[in-house]
This record gives sequence, C-alpha cells and structure tokens, in this order.
Amino acid sequence: MKSKRFVLTFPPEASGEPITYNLIRKFDIMVNIVKADVSPGHIGHLVMEMTAPKKVLEDGMEYMRQHRVECVPIDRKITYNKDLCVHCGACSAVCFAGALTISPQTAELGFDPEKCVVCELCLTACPLKLFRIDIG
Ligand code: SF4
Ligand code: SF4
Repeated sequence: MKSKRFVLTFPPEASGEPITYNLIRKFDIMVNIVKADVSPGHIGHLVMEMTAPKKVLEDGMEYMRQHRVECVPIDRKITYNKDLCVHCGACSAVCFAGALTISPQTAELGFDPEKCVVCELCLTACPLKLFRIDIG
C-alpha cells in the first residue's frame, strides 16, 4: 500500500463523471480530501491523499487524465529556519492553505506541514528568505 498526496485540477466544464466517487468504487482507492476549492463553471482544485497499491494508484491517475483532470503528485516539502524567524507574519498572510499561522496568544509563527500544499508563495513572501523546498 502506498499513500501519496496529489493536487487535482479540474477543467471548468465538468465531464459529468463523478471522479472522486469512481476512484473509490471502481479502483478501490482510499481517498482523503485535504483541501477543496471547487465551484461550477470555474477551474477547481483539490488536494487529496490517495492510498492504494502502486499499480492501482497509477491506473487511477490515468483514469483522471482521460477525463482531463490534471493530477500532480506532491513530492516536495517546505521547511524553514525557525531560529531566524522574526514572526513578521508576511508568510502567513499569503498561505491560503492555513499551514502558516501567527498565534493570537503568543504572536509567534506556527507551521503545520500537514496543511501545506507546496504552493511556494512563502518562499518569496519571507523577507529573510527562511523557506526552502526539500525534494523527496
Ligand atoms: S508552500 Fe504554500 S501552503 Fe505551504 S506553507 Fe508555503 S504558502 Fe503555505
Ligand atoms: S515571513 Fe519569514 S520572518 Fe516573517 S514570520 Fe514568516 S518565516 Fe518568519
């Protein structure tokens, strides 16, 4: 079994196929939706964790491609140099996924890697350039 996170991009005109439902029913893939930004008539995005044997995951990805759903694995992770952080909040202001937040109690930056969708906005937002991407 393999668990992997993906960013799914849906075209504005939905094909009518219940993609997520079929991944579960037809392919027997365990699906966990981490974040959804989907509205009719617009490009939609889903961050989804899928768990299945490697070959089944590949078949599921091929199925999505056939329905014009872009499916990009998240192989990278964000790290930052906590020790040099001055808690200015510039990174949390651009982090739409809610992975970076300033605590109302302590006014300090917190990072929840589970929520990160590796959009890379924090890399340019931080004036001290404390963020970096690790591959793998
Ligand atoms: S890469 Fe994007 S989602 Fe992840 S912490 Fe940075 S701004 Fe937030
Ligand atoms: S932008 Fe950089 S210095 Fe400011 S809170 Fe984020 S990590 Fe810390």
